[in-house]
Amino acid sequence: MTYSGFRLIREALTGHGGWKPVWRNPEPQSAYDFVIVGGGGHGLATAHYLAKVYKKSRIAVLEKGWIGGGNVGRNTTIIRSNYLLPGNEPFYELSLQLWEGLEQDLNYNAMVSQRGVMNLFHSDAQRDAFRRRGNSMILHGSDAELLDADGVRREAPFLNFDNARFPIKGALMHRRGGTVRHDAVAWGYARSADRHGVDIIQNCEVTGFRIEQNRVLGVETSRGYIGAGKVGVAVAGSSGKVMSHAGMRLPIESHVLQAFVSEGLKPVLPGVITFGAGHFYVSQSDKGGLVFGGDLDGYNTYAQRGNLPVVEDVCEGGMALMPIIGRTRLLRMWGGVMDMSMDGSPIIDRTGIEGLYFNGGWCYGGFKATPASGMVFAHLLATDAPHDTAAAYRFDRFEKGLMIDEKGVGAQPNLH
Ligand SMILES: Cc1cc2nc3c(=O)[nH]c(=O)nc-3n(C[C@H](O)[C@H](O)[C@H](O)COP(=O)(O)OP(=O)(O)OC[C@H]3O[C@@H](n4cnc5c(N)ncnc54)[C@H](O)[C@@H]3O)c2cc1C
Repeated sequence: MTYSGFRLIREALTGHGGWKPVWRNPEPQSAYDFVIVGGGGHGLATAHYLAKVYKKSRIAVLEKGWIGGGNVGRNTTIIRSNYLLPGNEPFYELSLQLWEGLEQDLNYNAMVSQRGVMNLFHSDAQRDAFRRRGNSMILHGSDAELLDADGVRREAPFLNFDNARFPIKGALMHRRGGTVRHDAVAWGYARSADRHGVDIIQNCEVTGFRIEQNRVLGVETSRGYIGAGKVGVAVAGSSGKVMSHAGMRLPIESHVLQAFVSEGLKPVLPGVITFGAGHFYVSQSDKGGLVFGGDLDGYNTYAQRGNLPVVEDVCEGGMALMPIIGRTRLLRMWGGVMDMSMDGSPIIDRTGIEGLYFNGGWCYGGFKATPASGMVFAHLLATDAPHDTAAAYRFDRFEKGLMIDEKGVGAQPNLH
């Protein structure tokens, strides 16, 4: 079924009886050519591009829970292409370009909204760093604009400009950045993958790999053994756990990140705003809620819930930046498990085991990467060669000292 304005009107006039389930609910087959472990944004996008762009068939996505239950449905929905390093920026620019055409590609309204991302700066040194980053973005085909304090005031007059411990001196504005409705991305990719013949199997946890003579033959699951020509693992926060079944120890730690939504307010925020003197970022949903987040909870965990000290810390950041939210009530909050790599950048690579491929280490920035991650992982699975824009995301960069350390903070996941 194709979605369109015409279809919507017809259904509205006929009692909405014609809508069909968005994807099938197939029983697992005994074997597939490609098994993708993890039905988050990255796994589903991989299956979509593998089938649609690389014309592969006999593909299954195995998800231990339900589609949209992982980080893809838990994030603060920000997309952007505003990185500094050559290993990163071309990849995130590819991703933003794919976001720009995503709804047409999927025939699904994911509410892609390029409302702009404004990174505030509060010191001369920060201005220099942002100018440098903006230049790098422009050189890689992205957009960047340096605003002074008056420029920021025109965009967001309600911010705490002068009466603050860290006065706002300006911002790096990235107008093509913005937000996307996160769970619609999972549903849109799932629907399109299904339409291209991919079996999406929910409630199917991968509990082990069958490996013989250093070659993966299939996966053990809670619904029985499933044979596979190639296995691609894209389980985000569960990367360490799942890859340990193949005897691998990853340069990744798992931490919780929390997100918050306030009660609905009249439209006030023009786009995404990030605080440069504390860890706080905020946008406003179409329903009016302020959607915001901050720092990681410090400890390692696989639990999808956070703790109260971080709630206090994030709300303090919000108050320092925009005191007008002081009387706003918090409506909802939740946590997701982040796969924090040791340099803050992802890994998309073959493993030492023939036929086993890995995609992870997304830290708290993997939502914006979803389309490009799916595209390049599909490329790797289909061709056995890394995609040009992801050539730097290899396991061996940690061995060789070729880290892609965007923030220059080393192996401290809590600082990435
Ligand atoms: C609070 C929060 C805010 C964030 N904000 C942003 C943001 O604004 N912008 C941004 O770019 N990124 C953001 N992120 C990060 C982003 O959400 C993640 O990096 C990204 O979603 C990870 O990829 P995914 O969608 O594939 O993960 P997931 O949706 O977590 O998918 C992984 C899937 O694997 C499944 N799985 C795990 N183990 C198994 C198994 N053994 N067998 C089968 N399936 C398994 C899980 O159930 C899960 O569904 C945020 C994350 C959080 C938690």
